[in-house]
Amino acid sequence: MAPRCWRWWHWSAWRRTRPPPAGSTPSFRQQFSTQEQAPQICVVGSGPAGFYTAQHLLKHHPRAHVDIYEKQLVPFGLVRFGVAPDHPEVKNVINTFTQTARSDRCAFRGNVVVGRDVAVSELQAAYHAVVLSYGAEDHQALEIPGEELPGVFSARAFVGWYNGLPENRELVPDLSCDTAVILGQGNVALDVARILLTPAGHLEKTDITEAALGVLRQSRVKTVWIVGRRGPLQVAFTIKELREMIQLPGTRPMLDPADFLGLQDRIKELPRQRKRLTELLLRTATEQPGAEEAARQASAARTWGLRFFRSPQQVLPSPDGRRVAGIRLAVTRLEGVGEAARAVPTGDTEDLPCGLVLSSVGYKSRPIDPSVPFDPKLGVIPNMEGRVLGVPGLYCSGWVKRGPTGVIATTMTDSFLTGQMLLQDLKAGLLPSGPRPGYAAIEALLSGRGVQPVSFSDWEKLDAEEVSRGKGAGKPREKLLDPREMLRLLGR
Ligand SMILES: Cc1cc2nc3c(=O)[nH]c(=O)nc-3n(C[C@H](O)[C@H](O)[C@H](O)COP(=O)(O)OP(=O)(O)OC[C@H]3O[C@@H](n4cnc5c(N)ncnc54)[C@H](O)[C@@H]3O)c2cc1C
Repeated sequence: MAPRCWRWWHWSAWRRTRPPPAGSTPSFRQQFSTQEQAPQICVVGSGPAGFYTAQHLLKHHPRAHVDIYEKQLVPFGLVRFGVAPDHPEVKNVINTFTQTARSDRCAFRGNVVVGRDVAVSELQAAYHAVVLSYGAEDHQALEIPGEELPGVFSARAFVGWYNGLPENRELVPDLSCDTAVILGQGNVALDVARILLTPAGHLEKTDITEAALGVLRQSRVKTVWIVGRRGPLQVAFTIKELREMIQLPGTRPMLDPADFLGLQDRIKELPRQRKRLTELLLRTATEQPGAEEAARQASAARTWGLRFFRSPQQVLPSPDGRRVAGIRLAVTRLEGVGEAARAVPTGDTEDLPCGLVLSSVGYKSRPIDPSVPFDPKLGVIPNMEGRVLGVPGLYCSGWVKRGPTGVIATTMTDSFLTGQMLLQDLKAGLLPSGPRPGYAAIEALLSGRGVQPVSFSDWEKLDAEEVSRGKGAGKPREKLLDPREMLRLLGR
């Protein structure tokens, strides 16, 4: 299948620009050989996908030059703004990205919104190849009445708030309620539940923003429900995150044994990872804990629970209509089996009182430039192994390529693959001929438009400032939240 599609793409999309068949003009091939060309490549987005693609290109082509454009003032995408502050080990990938950025064949161009400050077609004119790695920033709306009520947030915005994403710094959720409901049962849902329930003192030495920590210290949230449309066999979180929840200091789990009836018999058929995860869920739900664990749970002031077979139907307002007071859930049943099973409403509903609703039901990429094909249904750029369909010289990697699922390691693999396809095309002489101006042309455009990019050494100054601000409190850093202040620190 893949080779056939590739051939289709090759012939139909590139008919006009395709070089003559290999061998017919030796000088032509030579022109594109890795010996002759210093390919100018740009990557849009500085998250894991952008950095891993750049890393692959630099490693496997001795003279390739890669510019990484980023709309934020700072690099690293969701490693900085998504990964939870109490998971610092995950952020170690930043060290590798920093090595890449410090290469003299790589440059970081922050503070440039591609699609607004510079068009993709302008990048295509300046570079031999353009890789789109701009992630999946939109959240999936619930599309239910009451969604706009104060107290309802996307988990994405909530995460951005505690992780210092400038556009979410004004979020300041009201945590004076007793109960929070999280819709969705993936790792992001567990991240958010964990941050809400972790004793604030345990977060003090992380890079969580001081502002978020202040709000969490005052929080009165005691119960967090993590609600899924389907059953225990369809949860999307992984065992590490579940185990962390089960062992979270000062909390105890609430799982209804009735949700797990009959599961014991089916465990044997499950694939290995799903089996281990389900066993842990089942044990937690049905087995009596040992004396020590029972004592720990008895003294816990906070609880979290998984609610299955419930789909959000309506956010319920408080009597004065000014904020959320609960959520109406449709009771569902499953049609089909395994991960493909669908949740179908039974007609019954249940109202769950709560003062905070966080929806974590998925993300979506958005089109950033009308010239780039986009599949609105799948929320990705249509591509074949990273080659954007119908647009020679344009590639994609990461969440915008394969959708917003998968951890950093998955993103790494798919980004290396995109890098490999690009280099294959370069070698085969399929990329535009002749020298390209690269950043020189874009710099002129940006300066005419009043855009002042931030370089990697600028970031290193901001980084040093953040690290120094964190020192007093024993934190790895205190993130800068105000873009104007950041630019001021850079003398702009
Ligand atoms: C809340 C959360 C927690 C997570 N925790 C973990 C974890 O603990 N461990 C793990 O392995 N994975 C985790 N992941 C998954 C991981 O973050 C993703 O797999 C990975 O970040 C996807 O990489 P990406 O480069 O495609 O997207 P992103 O990381 O989103 O990077 C995209 C970049 O493109 C930039 N951009 C967007 N639009 C433009 C534009 N128009 N112009 C220029 N730049 C633009 C963005 O600002 C961003 O920097 C988490 C994800 C989320 C949402």
